[in-house]
Amino acid sequence: MYEQELTVDGFIHGEKIKAETYETRENPAHPKQTAGFSPVNTEEDAVRAIDAADDTFLDWTNRPVDDRIERMRKAIQKIKDATPAIKELLSREHGKPLYDAEGEIGVSLAWMEFACDNVEEVLKSEVNEDENGRTIIARDGIGVVSAISPWNYPLSLSTIKIAPALLAGNTMVLKPSPYAPLAVTKVTEMIAEEMPDGVLNLVHGDADVGKELTSNPKVAKIAFTGGTETAKHIMKAAADTIKNLTLELGGNDAAVVLSDFDVNDEQAMRRMVISNFLTAGQICMIAKRIYVDRSIYDQFVEKYKEAADQWIRVGDPFNENVTIGPINNKQQVDHVQKLVDQAADKGAKVIKLGTILDEDVFEEGYFMQPTMVLGVDHEDPIVEKEQFGPTVPILPFDGDEQGIELANNSIYGLTSSVWGEEEHAVKVARRIQAGTTMINTAAVQGLDVRYPFGGVKQSGIGREYGEEGLLAYTDTHVINIPNNKDLPYIPE
Ligand code: NAD
Repeated sequence: MYEQELTVDGFIHGEKIKAETYETRENPAHPKQTAGFSPVNTEEDAVRAIDAADDTFLDWTNRPVDDRIERMRKAIQKIKDATPAIKELLSREHGKPLYDAEGEIGVSLAWMEFACDNVEEVLKSEVNEDENGRTIIARDGIGVVSAISPWNYPLSLSTIKIAPALLAGNTMVLKPSPYAPLAVTKVTEMIAEEMPDGVLNLVHGDADVGKELTSNPKVAKIAFTGGTETAKHIMKAAADTIKNLTLELGGNDAAVVLSDFDVNDEQAMRRMVISNFLTAGQICMIAKRIYVDRSIYDQFVEKYKEAADQWIRVGDPFNENVTIGPINNKQQVDHVQKLVDQAADKGAKVIKLGTILDEDVFEEGYFMQPTMVLGVDHEDPIVEKEQFGPTVPILPFDGDEQGIELANNSIYGLTSSVWGEEEHAVKVARRIQAGTTMINTAAVQGLDVRYPFGGVKQSGIGREYGEEGLLAYTDTHVINIPNNKDLPYIPE
């Protein structure tokens, strides 16, 4: 197990970098306690890390893919062995309950394994030979990748980038979020230890370091997960040197409940509640607004409350009976509370859900009791904005057409879900603008690392997971050997 007040550091070319300043990462369930300390690295550190990744690139990318896979598999084993310690550390710094922290490690490992199992096939050159000649379509590593991850799923949203990038022959500088820097540092160290020095480097910090990582001319690709507003800065920073981008951004995912959804299906109702409140709602792909066909709206609300009251147990993330912990940071509590208060001020009905298991801890930490919000309009901020917290508005609609229109009426398009008779739901799903639409389930419950994940509209560019998530770290290189090497219409 890791010590209670762990200090982590960044590293460049296998060497830890000591910083002048360290920030305290408070434990969100017990803000008077310290979860650990993380450094504030500088732009100069970022430059040195990029230089190290750049110096290592050619050696790494020219190694056989088998060598890279073997190293990644050793790292996977190390992470597996360390899971009990990592989950405690993650839970302490983040606030997510232990089962949830373990789930995040599990998804990270499943993806790393998928990447190891499939990278060879994905990278294999395609050779075409016919009467016109011979063509080789090769997949090359791109170069130095800057990976920037958020605080809500620090491990899975970092390994989602590290594994495919390194396996495809890229080198990397990772910058995690200062709001959850501890467990991700430990996991990244475990991977880096298995690689030659310089292949995987880590710097800590916030926007200043991020700006260097996204503008430095030696960086070929940026893999970013975070907010849409931050991504706008990143696109601008990347423009000067035309960097390759994968952007996984915010979402305001709709759950559309059709007239033939069975409100008495307790399992489905439980999945709905989980899809709104897992990780205290701090997931990009959580269902953030529920639209219910008016013909079943009242029964839905009643049954939803019953299911929510059963599943939601708020308290200390180390208490094994708890399903929902605190919010990760004070700023986020204020953001969510403001949305709920604004709705209440306009006359919305805010209904508390679930039970509070540890009253003392609840009072002390960054907790919010989960709520459902009724009587709001589509234009209200609690519906239109990404709440990223434990609250969900439930609105009625009249007929499928209106349900589809409301679901699509958003600048975002990450995931969505449709609930009802399966074939009916699939028909409706085809008309929803989103990267993924799940049927009778939602959020991480419907996630599968074998298939591409990403958003449309302002929810992002590109895909992670699946074969596309591996190809995203390659450039296509065509070697063409035509039989006719001269063009007939060009005069002698
Ligand atoms: P954020 O955008 O504030 O920060 C994300 C990362 O960007 C952090 O590491 C931060 O230090 C860094 N950063 C901040 N300013 C920067 C700049 N100017 N240049 C470069 N880097 C900079 O997001 P957050 O609050 O950490 O995470 C929450 C957001 O992430 C939500 O909008 C959520 O929906 C989104 N998210 C999306 C996905 C997805 O897969 N689509 C997954 C998880 C979270």
